[in-house]
Amino acid sequence: MAAIRSVTIVGGGIGGLTLAVALRQIGVEVRIIEKGDRASRLGTGISLLGNALRALDRIGLADTCIARGYGYDCLKTRDAAGELLDEIALPRTFRPDRPGAFGIMRPVLAQILENEATSLGAAIDFETTVEDLEETADGVTLALSSGEKVCSDIVVGADGANSAMRERLFGTALKPEYCGQGGLRYTALRPAEMNGVTFYRDTVGNAVGAIPLSDEKCYYFILETGERPGHLSQTEVADLWQERVAGFSAPELVETVRHAHQAEALSYRPFDVLMMPRPWHKGRIVLIGDAVHSMSPQLTSGGGMAIEDAVVLAEEISAGRDFTATLARFENRREPRVRPILETSLAICRNEQNPSLAAHGKSMDLLQRGYALLADAF
Ligand SMILES: Cc1cc2nc3c(=O)[nH]c(=O)nc-3n(C[C@H](O)[C@H](O)[C@H](O)COP(=O)(O)OP(=O)(O)OC[C@H]3O[C@@H](n4cnc5c(N)ncnc54)[C@H](O)[C@@H]3O)c2cc1C
Repeated sequence: MAAIRSVTIVGGGIGGLTLAVALRQIGVEVRIIEKGDRASRLGTGISLLGNALRALDRIGLADTCIARGYGYDCLKTRDAAGELLDEIALPRTFRPDRPGAFGIMRPVLAQILENEATSLGAAIDFETTVEDLEETADGVTLALSSGEKVCSDIVVGADGANSAMRERLFGTALKPEYCGQGGLRYTALRPAEMNGVTFYRDTVGNAVGAIPLSDEKCYYFILETGERPGHLSQTEVADLWQERVAGFSAPELVETVRHAHQAEALSYRPFDVLMMPRPWHKGRIVLIGDAVHSMSPQLTSGGGMAIEDAVVLAEEISAGRDFTATLARFENRREPRVRPILETSLAICRNEQNPSLAAHGKSMDLLQRGYALLADAF
């Protein structure tokens, strides 16, 4: 059977774009089908750890990402007034002369990946979806919403947690489920002293987290526990932010309360979790990233897992085996890697639903366990 020479990627998010870069670097023909348009790529920032840096380095983009984001090495705990209580060092698992992690604005990361993919020859169709697909002995033909038909050796579904490709392949029985928490996120100016992940904690266990994203920006977040809320208007989200942060007197947090109703980016999103058992592929179609493993963000690793998936899939394709062996090897490498990381993140999520100072200690232990897993080879 022939090696894989052409790939259609459905979904041009973090995983899909990383895969496009990695595949073009080994000479595979790539076309990306993306539902959204480039201009509407919004979102606040993302924090990526040493494992993601190691994966990005395999496609030559780690240093560019650090330069366009904000590299850091520490996790600080502060009290409600902003006084430093504790600081732990994050391991430098990429290189001793590079930061252990970095934060970056999501649209900046997407632009870096897209520029690299297209300059290497990948084609992207924005505002396009898959209407139909047909698999034959020689490949897969996708009928696009544009009316065009695209043929390739394999198709990769990288279309995120609510993956239409997953539904097409495996039905609706497996879908992400709300895990009891959601997140409020607020992009703001970075205070000069915020040089790492920061948790502000009051004396009864309420917490506000923060992550630096660039020299200028950072984002604050709050984990909200409870029933999944219905749609929240922007005013309701701002009201909620003000209510949750009202008890904190750190000046940078007081500023967020004052400006909540005019915030450049303030959003709420429930956390939906899914870990698909193998197989992650059917015939010539395989899923990567959130489409197969959507995790709660306490370990800030869903994006890193999507990047690792992409790099590993490209490595397996570069070995030149037929599609059956390639896709089986891919999921056999990835599922055992992702599962314990997802489960550790979920354990932190469950623990944080019982806010207390003792729970904080347990969360820190779980966080360290998660970081150790992430430091493993992939
Ligand atoms: C609140 C929150 C905070 C998070 N923070 C972090 C963090 O700090 N660090 C981290 O590593 N991870 C974090 N994550 C997780 C991270 O965002 C995801 O794991 C990551 O985006 C997954 O990448 P992906 O490429 O698989 O999917 P996505 O990034 O979701 O990309 C999917 C793409 O597919 C497109 N698409 C969807 N449907 C279709 C369709 N039918 N046809 C064509 N295209 C389609 C979408 O428009 C999108 O561009 C967080 C998640 C949440 C919810």
